[in-house]
Amino acid sequence: METKTKKMPLKGLTLDELKDFFVSIDEPKFRATQVFNWMYNHKAVSFDEMLNVSKSLREKLAEFALLNTLEIHSTKTSSQNGTKKFLFSTLEGNKIESVVIPELKRVTLCLSTQVGCPLDCKFCATGLMGYKKNLTAGEIFDQYLLTQKNFDRPITNIVYMGMGEPLLNFQNTLKSLEIFKEEMTKGISLKKVTISTAGIAPKIKELADSGLKVRLAFSLHSCFEPIRSKIMPINEKYPLRENIEALKYYYEKNKTRITFEYVMLKGLNDREEDINMLVKLTKRIPSKINLIPFNSLQHMNPIGLSSELIPTTRKKIEDFANRLRSFNVTVMVRDTQGEDINAACGQLAIKF
Ligand code: SAH
Repeated sequence: METKTKKMPLKGLTLDELKDFFVSIDEPKFRATQVFNWMYNHKAVSFDEMLNVSKSLREKLAEFALLNTLEIHSTKTSSQNGTKKFLFSTLEGNKIESVVIPELKRVTLCLSTQVGCPLDCKFCATGLMGYKKNLTAGEIFDQYLLTQKNFDRPITNIVYMGMGEPLLNFQNTLKSLEIFKEEMTKGISLKKVTISTAGIAPKIKELADSGLKVRLAFSLHSCFEPIRSKIMPINEKYPLRENIEALKYYYEKNKTRITFEYVMLKGLNDREEDINMLVKLTKRIPSKINLIPFNSLQHMNPIGLSSELIPTTRKKIEDFANRLRSFNVTVMVRDTQGEDINAACGQLAIKF
């Protein structure tokens, strides 16, 4: 009797895993190198594109394996600065978003790691939509392949700052990084990849031990535990002090400066005492601070605390930055990109 086997999704496999797959279908290992190159470098979307693979093997692959993990549902481009938002469907019909942000000297891709997010940060649109599932390593990596294929400049930087908390989808996030790290993979080195986390302290340490030397951004938003817990409920489980220990550990292991992200919220975290605490914190950990103008959540019809949050004015953000600089803190004020298409930080959300 014929047994029906499930097709093996190939995107998301590392080179070693791909070799194991070819052995499992009685093919030589070197085929893995060829297919790896077609998938991840040529960004092939069908086995028929793989010209140095024989027709019979291409047919065999079509029978036993799956290549694509995502489909482009729609795209929107900002008329202000060319920021392009991609809406993808996973094979089972979930929707996720990625954003490509072109600047003068670099092009940054912001990609998602989960469908929705379980963290419920009060200032973030994704938090308001709830959580559905972890993305597979293939679905994470495919966002890079498909956005690059559909963008006319080369992507130079990748930030894991879209929907979801990467460190709560730890294995798949790591696997996607391993593919970027693989010597054969062209285009992006791990030095140009940033993982952003709301602070899952034990996983920050695990990431430090993984040998994957990515840059780490920490969504700080307040140096005061009670205020941080109010706007980021995950702080109850992994308080700031535990995360600070983990970040120090990360720095010691990797010697890359930590980026603190700080969404500016009027009256909540833009006060004099916030400046003092930020100065103290950045003295303890080699780091820089990104001040982020708070992007409106109005398109989500927020309720409760989320509806009460007010952006700090641009002038006040600049003053806050300058005060920090007077204490020799490295500070950047982030430009808001793609607000006209709801593609700015913290605006990614889809109705399930
Ligand atoms: N879960 C991860 C990655 C997603 S959030 C994390 O928390 O870091 C990515 C960045 O967008 C974070 O720094 C987050 O604080 C910021 N952000 C979220 N909502 C925002 C909003 N409404 N306006 C501006 N930035 C926001």
